[in-house]
Amino acid sequence: MDEQHLIKLLRVPAGIVDDSGTVLLTNPAWDQFETMVDHAGKEYSELNRLIRAPHIKKECQKIWRGKNESFEYYFRTIARDHCQLSITKCNENRMLFQVLPAVDSGVVAENAVDVLESMNEAFFSLDENWCFTYVNHEAEKVLFKSREELIGKNMWLLFPDAWGTNFEEHYFKTMHDQIPTRFEEYYGPIKSWFEVTAYPNRQGGLSVYFRNINKQKEMEKSLWQSANSDHLTGLPNRRYSYELMKDYIEKNHPFTIYFLDLDQFKIINDLYGHDVGDRLIHKIGMRLQKNLPEEITISRLGGDEYLILVPDLLDKAEVEDLGNRLIGMFSKAFVLQDRPEIHVEPSVGVSQFPKDGNLVDTLIDKADIAMYEAKKKQLTKAVMYDPVMHESVSRDLIIQQELKKVIERGELEFVYQPQIDSRRNWITGVEVLTRWTHPVLGPVSPAEFIPIAETSGMMEKLTRYQLDWCLSKFSDWRKHFSFDGVIAFNISSGLFRNKNFIAFLEQVIREHKIPFDQIELEITENIQLFSHKESVQTLERLRDLGIRVAIDDFGTGYSTLSYLNQFPVDKIKIDKHFTDQIMTDIKGEAILVSIIKLANSLELDVLAEGVETEEQRDFLKMNGCSDMQGYYYFKPMTLTECEQFYYEKVLKERVPE
Ligand code: C2E
Ligand code: CA
Ligand code: CA
Repeated sequence: MDEQHLIKLLRVPAGIVDDSGTVLLTNPAWDQFETMVDHAGKEYSELNRLIRAPHIKKECQKIWRGKNESFEYYFRTIARDHCQLSITKCNENRMLFQVLPAVDSGVVAENAVDVLESMNEAFFSLDENWCFTYVNHEAEKVLFKSREELIGKNMWLLFPDAWGTNFEEHYFKTMHDQIPTRFEEYYGPIKSWFEVTAYPNRQGGLSVYFRNINKQKEMEKSLWQSANSDHLTGLPNRRYSYELMKDYIEKNHPFTIYFLDLDQFKIINDLYGHDVGDRLIHKIGMRLQKNLPEEITISRLGGDEYLILVPDLLDKAEVEDLGNRLIGMFSKAFVLQDRPEIHVEPSVGVSQFPKDGNLVDTLIDKADIAMYEAKKKQLTKAVMYDPVMHESVSRDLIIQQELKKVIERGELEFVYQPQIDSRRNWITGVEVLTRWTHPVLGPVSPAEFIPIAETSGMMEKLTRYQLDWCLSKFSDWRKHFSFDGVIAFNISSGLFRNKNFIAFLEQVIREHKIPFDQIELEITENIQLFSHKESVQTLERLRDLGIRVAIDDFGTGYSTLSYLNQFPVDKIKIDKHFTDQIMTDIKGEAILVSIIKLANSLELDVLAEGVETEEQRDFLKMNGCSDMQGYYYFKPMTLTECEQFYYEKVLKERVPE
């Protein structure tokens, strides 16, 4: 029987799909299908969309690769009926998708039991009196209790410690409001973190899916610590305090910062050696932390600089008072084992948000200027920033002004850094990076001007210009060199919520006739990004078109890893911070390896950034990360350099002389 006949005979929604995910044939029931909801509570209003969901795609790939013959995925309809997506291979490159009715929820019927039992996820259902009505095998394992101990018993009596936690709040809410919820919570008695999704069922009870996420939590913790703490003192690092200040600024929460720098620290280093210097830095950190209340954050910015952040707009007397206390902490000498006692004194400068500015860098600069004033005048008190200390307009403001003219003056240039597949020794793509040379300031690093452009609303204009320019060049490359790799653009996360920008993006790619799958967008890991519904929709829209999305600087700005399961990204780019730890920090290496494993297990592409040495390349390759970018292979190159390279290496070798 041919496929057309086959699917006409089926009364359930059914379709034939090819290996690229294209729907070839459907039956009338296909269009009448009801919105489905997956375990994560995500809704799919069209089958075509469901088929492209990353976890479904993944299973399809397994079928193509011959790992599985068929696959079933368990869903609910919006009316909370259970249903099942069944995918079967019908011939070489076709699959049959069917939506089969499963069973009524709550009371679980026999064929659904098979599904529930074969799930990797733990599952139980409760009646409206909080008594267990069904528990699958996985749930027995995870909860360390057998079905016999659970069925018919009241949950709150068996798990009293869940009372008063997120479990209670969410379960009650789900039962009461009749809407699914998803949350993470720790359950003390079995020392486990859980990710839980609860659905109301028709009988008035709950259906609960959950899994133990201890491993993920451990990894999140070590990632977080490695990214946010200072190796020498264990205090929060620069990154952490910057993020904290950014957060306060966003929330318009006033604060006061003390910039503390040690006097004559260089002499101590020269006199006693760096080892003693390092130990002193550590001791000072400990003393500050011990003597200041918890709500004050002490971080080390680097060198002999500490930042003390008070989440309050202190008045003049209070600023002085805390300043005196800080300086007082240095009156007692520091004792380092088998060394003479060391006396050091600090100079302290203060600035405040919003009084002195609304950019983190500006506030730090101003506290720094005040600190220099204190040092210059050898003052033993904290000095508050005063505009007279700084007559010239700050550099940030100049940059902000000058940025407005860069396009008209043609000061921007774009360079391209190749991304390499180290197994094939081949260029798989290029990342576009911006270069700005100002007639007076000289070259200004993107690390300096991009944040200013972002906060002053300039990013959309700059990125539009960049896309148009680079895509036009890219279109030539494709023609001249048959370049089939991707071109990757850095997209500021704010632009993701901007509908006009996204429409422009789509249009400009079409205009230059570039296949969508040759475009990659790099977005920095940022949890606000993923918690905004619009950005998630944008991400889905882009992915539907076939545009690739990569998470940039992975492992640094992170706060939870579970978004990787839920959001459709193609690739993660591991931050240089981790590459740098190869051969230097065993703990860092272990984290790096676990990131690679995580990416591989989620079937995401993974690339390591900032690869500079052969050892780093070998280590990464050996541990399953073959895609790399970094000075070891190429520095960012101008267009002419790229073309020259392609001509020399590719065309000459391909065309026999
Ligand atoms: P990024 O996206 O993480 O880009 C990688 C940065 O690391 C680039 O610096 C690159 O030149 C540098 N790099 C690459 N390989 C190595 C290496 O092996 N060793 C070392 N030490 N550095 C390496 P760059 O160009 O200064 O850019 C800094 C950041 O500025 C970028 O970080 C990106 O976040 C941002 N940026 C640059 N251009 C743009 C742009 O056009 N738009 C947006 N939104 N951001 C941009
Ligand atoms: Ca990037
Ligand atoms: Ca990066």
